[in-house]
Amino acid sequence: MKQMLIESIKNLFSKPATLKYPLEPSPTPPNYRGFIVYKKELCIFCTKCEMVCPPGAIRFTYNEDDTKEFHYNPYLCIYCGECIRACPKPGCLTHAQEAAPPATATTIPDWDSLEKKADESKRAWLASKKKKK
Ligand code: SF4
Ligand code: SF4
Repeated sequence: MKQMLIESIKNLFSKPATLKYPLEPSPTPPNYRGFIVYKKELCIFCTKCEMVCPPGAIRFTYNEDDTKEFHYNPYLCIYCGECIRACPKPGCLTHAQEAAPPATATTIPDWDSLEKKADESKRAWLASKKKKK
């Protein structure tokens, strides 16, 4: 009883253990893994990130002028960080500190069409490389 009374008095003067969220934003843990941020200017288009991504959330499309385009689906991403570990260019892929964006009908990419385009453009690109040899 005495101990309980001491604890109660102590708690009256101690700082609350919880945050007044959303008035006070919760601090981001140091090892937080947010969605992927891509910096095109650092990319060498080696496509290693695409190769290691378990759910296929990164895809490249191949253009006729021999350039490639990076595409990322944050709603397919499982935030494992494999692409960041595989990328040979430091800083090219990073985790954002914010939470993943909430999905809305307008922000969900037409990923099925994009995957089809990625497969077809890669096939055409490989065929043109073979022809040049
Ligand atoms: S974090 Fe994982 S799932 Fe997300 S894009 Fe990178 S490799 Fe793919
Ligand atoms: S692994 Fe890095 S450098 Fe290579 S294509 Fe992906 S983002 Fe670009």
